[in-house]
Amino acid sequence: MKNISILGSTGSIGTQSLDVCRMHGYSIKCLTANSNVDLMEAQIREFKPEIVCMMNEKAASTLKAKISDMNTKVVAGLDGLIECAVYDGADTVLNSVVGMIGLQPTLEAIKARKTIALANKETLVAGGHLVTNLAKEYGVSILPVDSEHSAIFQAMQGSPSKSAVKKIILTASGGPFFGKTLEELEHVTAADALKHPNWDMGQKITIDSATMMNKGLEFIEAKWLFDMPNEDIEIVVHRESVVHSAIVYQDNSMIAQLGVPDMRIPIQYALTYPERKPSPVASLSLSDYGRLTFFEPDYENFKCIDVCRNAIEMGGLHPAAANGANEESVKLFLEGKIKFTDIAYLNDKAMRNAPEKKNFTLADVLETDKMAREFVRNSINEYGES
Ligand code: NDP
Ligand code: MG
Repeated sequence: MKNISILGSTGSIGTQSLDVCRMHGYSIKCLTANSNVDLMEAQIREFKPEIVCMMNEKAASTLKAKISDMNTKVVAGLDGLIECAVYDGADTVLNSVVGMIGLQPTLEAIKARKTIALANKETLVAGGHLVTNLAKEYGVSILPVDSEHSAIFQAMQGSPSKSAVKKIILTASGGPFFGKTLEELEHVTAADALKHPNWDMGQKITIDSATMMNKGLEFIEAKWLFDMPNEDIEIVVHRESVVHSAIVYQDNSMIAQLGVPDMRIPIQYALTYPERKPSPVASLSLSDYGRLTFFEPDYENFKCIDVCRNAIEMGGLHPAAANGANEESVKLFLEGKIKFTDIAYLNDKAMRNAPEKKNFTLADVLETDKMAREFVRNSINEYGES
């Protein structure tokens, strides 16, 4: 019997994780959300967790009143989120909150020796070196939930050693704006960007997929999870999202993981690893697809990939700045305050503006994140628009 805590349980990954837990009868110890009281109440009544956290204090008070007939304890804010991340009764913490707010809970869960199922990629982008070093120190496994990283991790299960792997191939759907020119991208709206062709996801990652910042963030995520040199991680656009990623061994044999685009497969693998169990997801019919296509990414028009590749190349706090800037610029784009093409421009400027520091601490990451967000906000205030 697994005992699981889910951080971000009301989101796209959180609700799909609960589908998997429901199917396998896993026990849910803690759940967290930001402000979605109604869904959290329904989840509490079904899964009967011991503690839940609402990041938003007002939402926590409303929830408390609504579930006064239940035994579940309600906590609030970042301290509450951390209380759920380290809760004694759970052995696995699935972190599916959105944004780098997930970093401290991940670090604390590692210190509490929980197995980490990680969807919250911003955690690894902003503080990759802190997370991986701490996981090594505490002997804790970080199991990827992101579909590409799960695919790579699955393909690596056949590897005799890490040195047998020569290259990682990260596939990208290309998002809703595949094939568009920079001029066309200038005029796309948030509503256009929120229509992803293959995946139904939270708003922030849907915009990240449209700008291809998501692939840049995943490049950094892959770097930290699999410890590969930058030049050995290749990005390939694959419109059908069926080949979820691949690795190339030293003998040039390529092993990929395929499946229908449904996050419950990688979520389940992170929860059942190293076992395989029946899945709620349909099996893939290759003949239904008939044809799978692959293209070089368009680095000229989708500049966010290079913002991230340059950030990890420059090292230190540059990835944290790229991530913080992106969280802010996506927010401003969704609010209609900047253009789609401003996102890459602002992310790049803020990324380059990060302080130079090789050996950084959590406090440095938090400070850099704050500075990058301010930098983006100030840039649009100063220039009206970039
Ligand atoms: P959603 O926006 O759907 O869900 C986010 C969850 O985090 C919700 O439970 C939300 O609560 C909570 N949350 C939001 N803001 C805060 C905050 N400030 N503090 C604490 N909790 C907060 O996101 P997704 O599920 O799409 O994505 C979650 C993570 O997984 C992201 O890092 C994303 O990049 C990654 N990921 C997602 C994939 C997908 O298919 N969706 C695929 C691969 C990775 P509330 O509902 O109350 O707002
Ligand atoms: Mg992904």
